[in-house]
Amino acid sequence: MRAMRIHRLGPVGESDPPLKLEEIDTPSAGGGEVLLRVHACGVCHTELDEIEGRTPPPTLPVTPGHQVVGTVVTEGPDCRLGLVGKRVGVAWIYSACGECRWCRSGRENLCPDFMATGRDAPGGYAEFMVVPEAFAHEIPAEIGDLEATPLLCAGAVGCRALRLCRLENGEALGLTGFGASGHLVLQMARHLYPDSPIHVFARSAREREFALDLGADWAGHTTDTPERGLDAVIDTTPAWLPVLAAMQRLAPGGRLVINAIRKEAGDHDTLGDLDYDRHLWREKTLTTVANVTRQDVADCLRLAAEIPLKPHVTPYPLEKANQALLEVKAGHIRGAKVLEIAEHP
Ligand SMILES: [Zn+2]
Ligand SMILES: [Zn+2]
Repeated sequence: MRAMRIHRLGPVGESDPPLKLEEIDTPSAGGGEVLLRVHACGVCHTELDEIEGRTPPPTLPVTPGHQVVGTVVTEGPDCRLGLVGKRVGVAWIYSACGECRWCRSGRENLCPDFMATGRDAPGGYAEFMVVPEAFAHEIPAEIGDLEATPLLCAGAVGCRALRLCRLENGEALGLTGFGASGHLVLQMARHLYPDSPIHVFARSAREREFALDLGADWAGHTTDTPERGLDAVIDTTPAWLPVLAAMQRLAPGGRLVINAIRKEAGDHDTLGDLDYDRHLWREKTLTTVANVTRQDVADCLRLAAEIPLKPHVTPYPLEKANQALLEVKAGHIRGAKVLEIAEHP
């Protein structure tokens, strides 16, 4: 089969394409695993984080890709779910131990043995991949192959962030940063909390306009202040200034949920302005989002079919994966980039 694989880690640039197109053996499903013929795989910023060493794969070469849609072609021994012939998705969660205290309390995303698709196990930048059947998600018929891929990452993690907001209908929500996840979260929040005013903070005027088009009640610059205090804010920026700005805008009892793999060092000094009275007092809380659970993925797919949510996607052939990654790095995020690997039969 054909696969685009990572062979070495380092900065991604024009002159040095990070992935190599190769002909490798088609894997076979082991105990409890299924083999998928991949139809499509989303391209995520996390692939850059892997290649540039911020979340490095433990062994090389590795096939990246963790927003995979395909049809199950065969199953290994001990499979019980009868998935052969079904269209399924694979998300960032490839497996978790199922036995530790985090797994047993619905927080398998925090499992010490968490394995990530396309980093700790081969992912979907290939014509076939295997996955434990218990970690394959059936895709609702309403959702197309390409449209499903961003739901498996940006959508699922957005769903998790929204859950951690513990919002009640009518409470005010803020989104600071408005990228791939923000677009989907805005539409999910609009559906789940019809009476909640939604505020979007974004640096670019184009993003603010887009937020209003998608149903936001208010859109402003990162440091603008809306009229009312916010009950919850989801921050998806790589910086610290929006964190302080959001904490200051929280209403008493407000929740800030940071949905970012890391914060950049650039404006770390801003934290020197942290003021107990303005930013923390009155039971404000701060949490972060790490990975996803199968529940987050299932919830997102169900919601997307119900709304219906149709993410904008730009298809690329498998062999153009390097170009897609370079464009992600350049920050052209409007519309998810998706490798279209095989036609849906
Ligand atoms: Zn991702
Ligand atoms: Zn575990």
